[in-house]
Parts: sequence; C-alpha cells; structure tokens
Amino acid sequence: MGYIPKLLTEKPHAVCIPYPAQGHINPMLKLAKLLHHNGFHITFVNTEFNHNRLLESRGADELDCLPSSFQFKTIPDGLPPTDPNATQDISSLCESTTTHCLAPFRDLLAKLNNDSSHDPPVSCIISDGIMSFTLSAAEELAIPRVLFWTTSACGLYGYFQYRKLLEKGIVPLKEASYLTNGYLDQVLDWIPGMKGIRLKDLPSFLRTTNPDEFLVHFAVSETDRARKASAIILNTFEELELDVLKALSLILPPIFCIGPLQFLEHQVTTDESLSILGSNLWKEDPECIEWLDSKEVNSVVYVNFGSITVMSPEQLGEFALGLANSKQTFLWIIRPDLVTGDSAILPPEFLEETKERGLLARWCPQEQVINHPSVGGFLTHNGWNSTLESISSGVPMVCWPFFAEQQTNCWYCCTQWGIGMEINSDVQRDEVERLVRELMVGKKGLEMKKKAVEWKKKAEDAAKKDEGSSSKNVQKLIHHVLIP
Ligand code: UDP
Repeated sequence: MGYIPKLLTEKPHAVCIPYPAQGHINPMLKLAKLLHHNGFHITFVNTEFNHNRLLESRGADELDCLPSSFQFKTIPDGLPPTDPNATQDISSLCESTTTHCLAPFRDLLAKLNNDSSHDPPVSCIISDGIMSFTLSAAEELAIPRVLFWTTSACGLYGYFQYRKLLEKGIVPLKEASYLTNGYLDQVLDWIPGMKGIRLKDLPSFLRTTNPDEFLVHFAVSETDRARKASAIILNTFEELELDVLKALSLILPPIFCIGPLQFLEHQVTTDESLSILGSNLWKEDPECIEWLDSKEVNSVVYVNFGSITVMSPEQLGEFALGLANSKQTFLWIIRPDLVTGDSAILPPEFLEETKERGLLARWCPQEQVINHPSVGGFLTHNGWNSTLESISSGVPMVCWPFFAEQQTNCWYCCTQWGIGMEINSDVQRDEVERLVRELMVGKKGLEMKKKAVEWKKKAEDAAKKDEGSSSKNVQKLIHHVLIP
C-alpha cells in the first residue's frame, strides 16, 4: 500500500541511510539537509559504531538541538567492536551490512510507521548505492527507493565493467605476476565512454587472483541491483562526466546528478543548528585554518589521504622526505590510523628541515582547508569527495590513488580533466619532490591550475540556484521521484 499522508499537510518523510564510512556519510548528510530545506522530515540512519564516534567528535550538544523534523536513528552494523578512532575494515563492513542490516532496518521502519510514532509515515528511502539491501525494505512498503552512489560516475561505470571482465576471463588474474608484468597496462577498447582506459585504471578490487574475491562479487551484485532502484543519485555535475553519464543512462534507472553537493548545501539557509551540523568522525584540529591564514596565496601544498587509506612506515618516510626536499610549504594531515603497524614515525631530518614551513595535524575541516586562498595544490588519494572538493575549489592535484575507484578518478584527473599528475604507487621521495615542486611552481602546475579554475566555474554554474543543471535535477528528483 504505498505512502499515504495521515494529513494532507503532513511532510514527506525521507529515510537517509549512508554506507557507514566517512566518505559516504558526508555527502548523504548534505543531501539530507537539502531535502530538509525542501520540506522533508528526515530520519538519518547511522550505525551505532559511527554514531558514537560522531557524538564524540562533534559533541552531543550539536546533535541535541536539531529541529524535531531532523532526527538521527541507529542500527547495529553486525561487526565485533574495534578501535573507536579508526575506520572499520571495508571488506568486513560490506559483508556485514549486507548480511546483518536488513532486519534492524526493517524494525526501524516499522517503528517510524507505527501509529504511536510522532513522525509522518516514511514516504521514501534514500540509501547508499552499496547498501542495496534497503531496496527490499522499500519494496515492502511500496515507496520510492533511491540509491545514492557516492562515487564519481566514472567510478560507478568502472564497477559496471566487472561482470564483463569476469566473462571475458580477464579477471581474476591468472597469476600474481600479472600484477607487475604489464598485464594491467592493457587498454580496454570495448568500453563506450572510456576511450583509452587501461585495466589498471578501473576500480582496484579486480587486482586479484582469487576467483572468490568478495569485493569483486559484491561490486557485481550491487551494480546489478542498482537497476532495480526508482532512481540513482550521483554527487557530480553533468558537464564533468558527460560521456560516461550517457553510457550509464542506457543501463540504469533515471540518474540525477546533483553535485557538487557542498555548493548546493551552502545555498540553503536552513535552521542554524542544521547549518553547523557536521559529520566528521574525527575531531577537527582547529589550528589548521589559523595557520593557513598566516600564509601567502597559493603557497601551501595540502596533503591528505582521506579516511581509509593506509600506508607502510617506509611509504610515510618517502612522502616525508619528498615533501622536505621539495622545499614547499605544506599542511599534512596524518590520521591516527594512517600508518600500518605501531605508529607513524617521521624521519628526524624531515622534522628538522620542515619545522618552519610545515604543519602536521591529525584531522582537519577539509572543505574549509581546500577552499582557503593559501592552498595552491593538493596531494591526494583521489577519494571522490576529495577530488570533487578539489575541483570545486579550483585546486590542482598530485594523485596517489589507494584503492577502489580512486584509480579511475585519478585517470580522469590526469588524462581527461587536465588537473592531476600521478605518483607511482611504489612511492619514491624523488618523484614526490619533483611532482610537488611542479604542482606548486612548475609550468605544468600553472596549466593545471588554469584548468582547475575553469572546472570550478563550471561546477558553480551547475549549482546555480534554479538555473544550474544540478539545482534543476534536485527539483526533478523531488517532484518526479520522491513525491510522485
Ligand atoms: N575529510 C575531512 N578532514 C580530513 C580528511 C578528510 O574533513 O582531515 C573529509 C573530506 O573532506 C571528504 C571525506 O572526509 O569529504 C573523505 O572522503 P573521500 O571520498 O575523499 O575519501 P575516503 O575517506 O572515502 O577514502
């Protein structure tokens, strides 16, 4: 029996459920605020683990004073307890959410729809693209079911190639030597919209010899199930990914590109308590912005590898000495769980050499940082949020993709959008030094900066109120899908 408002004046009620990792929670919260601004009652569903982290990092006050039409609820993620200051293992989390989250999610929906609940009946579910188990719950309630893939369109399209790669016998790799013998360099000339892409530029989970690799099969099943959604949301803008979007539109339900979400979020003058509500799971270091204020325009390299990337102590050392030798000023965020093993030990010569021109911190308000006039370049792992935040700030990148679709984002930045240079995965200090210097003071860096500024302008146009493609798509999404 679909959604029936108890009263005609009742608000539509969207349940927003992100995949429980930082890079997924951030854009979902922005979307939830946008919908709230457009008259929706919002239930935002976190896992218990992440909600506790959020309470810890933001303080309970920030969440306590929200309007009654915007609430958080939690469900368990099914995983045993782990370090509350570290990202959970992604493969285990995918397995666990798929297996364990549907039952508590159903219970939650039942409670929200209970006659004694003060909430309007749930009228649509917006779930992360890799939480497709929610489709069953939405089907049972006969309400619109929308999947928000928080990847780039090119990353999503990259995952769509997995089935064919398996069918063609290209993946799994026949033996481990294929990882290094040039096999991954083969150009895949059969993918429409991705001319010239190599096997190694597709999402990284395919780099396996294991025919049962969970994340490969997970990607296949989640992309298959995406076809069953009422609509797909992407945090990108049409002009950025035209060819791939065209290809995706042939295989998916209607796609709504509504990015960059940070621009659309900033336009909405919502309730004060909602406008300050943040989603960082680590406490932000307040020193960063003040420090940037003291630096010259375009003079700082910002270094951050997001919430999941890990590296070895040797790789940390190569980055450190490369940065030191580049002689550039930098802000480097070293997450407490960035380095595998015991702890991050930085070379003493690095600390000595850079004490006047480098700031190290554990976590920062990245959007603010990357938008700061002092930041001239970004050394990034190319997570989609970071990449889009860089594009939206007109900041060129040096790219060190770690995993998942970061490799695809990197390929687009470097070969299609003209705003990135890649560092070899086997990172060496000399290359870091050379590329960081080129980024900040070289000819190529200057060209990339120009391009990045052009993309920023296009992103702003897409988000222009009432006129831009992304703003229009938000209205279409609301009026054609969410409130049919
Ligand atoms: N982020 C932040 N401060 C940090 C590091 C990251 O606010 O010190 C935010 C960043 O702005 C982005 C998200 O965390 O929105 C990371 O998502 P992304 O897709 O870039 O990478 P992931 O963490 O998923 O690998």
